[in-house]
This record gives sequence, structure tokens and C-alpha cells, in this order.
Amino acid sequence: MNKITIENLTLHYSDGNESLREINISIPSNAISVIFGPSGGGKSTLLRVLNRLNDLTDVSHLEGRVLLDNENILDPKTDVIALRRRVGMVFARPVVLPMSIRQNLIYGLEVAGEKDKYKLDAAVERSLKQAALWEEVKDRLDDPAVALSGGQQQRVCLARVLALEPEVILLDEPTSGLDPISTGKVEESLQELKKSYTIILVPHSVQQAARTADYAAFFLQGELVEYAVSDILFTNPAEQHTQDYVEGRFG
Ligand code: ADP
Ligand code: MG
Repeated sequence: MNKITIENLTLHYSDGNESLREINISIPSNAISVIFGPSGGGKSTLLRVLNRLNDLTDVSHLEGRVLLDNENILDPKTDVIALRRRVGMVFARPVVLPMSIRQNLIYGLEVAGEKDKYKLDAAVERSLKQAALWEEVKDRLDDPAVALSGGQQQRVCLARVLALEPEVILLDEPTSGLDPISTGKVEESLQELKKSYTIILVPHSVQQAARTADYAAFFLQGELVEYAVSDILFTNPAEQHTQDYVEGRFG
């Protein structure tokens, strides 16, 4: 089942940059779809469109459709706040709020009106377990989140998204600042999470793409070069550009 279908998506920034050119791609649910390729290829731009963060940047031209369960989220009538609850985003640099670990996790739920302490506690435990952080922090939930290591803070950011029970999780190079052990933990939790969520990951390396992907899309200069089941794309790509990049012939 496809969760997201992108049809003929083209985006230009106001300075004339054409950053996405006629992108067509279907993102299946309950899988990790990886969007990879050299810097400047449009990967972050694409993720931003998927939860309408492009509204906040200098976009001069946007055309095409992005269907989330058959509903075009680019429609001006879309409730963007509701959309961002369904489609959560984790960025490269963890930005924890200057409050306790617990408060970081329940902030979004409280803003959404949840007051039931029992439900909030349950959400804290569930989301921390899903982000593979529970064991490390369960005895110090009231400590400031900023006191955690970078790898732990990144998992707080992931847990904060999960606390809101989204349907889709977008991750833009979520482990770029992390050591290999923390990176391994985040990757492991993604494998677990895909059972319940649709995951779209921009990896920080080709190696991470190959390790984590069920489906992989290779982006080059605003175009989708190739999209395939990961096993095929990394071992027997159809396009020479994909093969050259995967084999490290250009970066
Ligand atoms: P990637 O994530 O693959 O590195 P980006 O989506 O960040 O690529 O960028 C794609 C292209 O769009 C680049 O040429 C970049 O300079 C340009 N771009 C990205 N964000 C903006 C912006 N806010 N304003 C103008 N141009 C941008
Ligand atoms: Mg990027």
C-alpha cells in the first residue's frame, strides 16, 4: 500500500534555483524509503514539501500533487497543523527544548490539549521505548534534556515526534552528528518503527542508505534518477549515474 504518492512535483526557489523537477514517486507504508544523492540534489527540499515546511521558505513556483492517503496536501485548504501531526520531521541537528526530558516529550500533546496525566505518562514511556532511549533515561525524566549526549538528544527529538503518534516520519540526516554507537541505535529503532509507520530517511552516507533502505531513490540535481527496491538499486542499478555514485566515483 502506498502512503504517499508524489505526482509531477516541480519546485523553484525565488532566486531561480530549480530544485525539484517533475518528481514522480510512490512511498509505501511500513517500510523505510531512503532519498539519497549528492548535496544540493533537492532531498531536504522534498522532505520539507511533505509537511509543508516549504511554506516557510522562499518558493516562487510549486506545481504537481502530493497525495497523502489520496488527499492532496498541497491544496491551499489543507489544515497544515493537522498535517504536521500526521507527518513528523526530525532534523539533522537535535534541537531539544530547554526543559526536562519529560516536558520535551509531552509539550506537543499539551499544546494539542491533552491534560490527562496518565495518558501523558504513557506517551512518554511508549515514545522513549520506540526511540530506543527508555532504558538510558527512565530514572531521570525530570533532568534537563540539554544535559543528555548528542546521540541521546537526537533520540529525544525522534521520541518527541513519536509521542504525537504521526503516520509518517521524515528524517533529514538524523545521525549526521552522532557517533557510530548512537547511529546504530537510531538505525535499529527505525527498523522496529517501520512496522507501524511510514518512514522516509535522507541518510548521511551511501553506506547508511544501503544498510537501512527497503526502497531507495537516487536524486541528482533536482531530478529523480532512479527509484527501486533497495537490493536492486544498490547491487544492480539501471542507471550509470546511480552506479557511479553508489561505487563512490563522485560525491
Ligand atoms: P539536499 O538536501 O539534497 O542537499 P536541498 O534541497 O537543500 O538539497 O537544495 C536543493 C537546491 O535548492 C540547492 O541548489 C540549494 O542551494 C537550493 N535551496 C535550498 N534551500 C533553499 C532556499 N531556502 N532558498 C533558495 N534556494 C534553496
Ligand atoms: Mg539536505
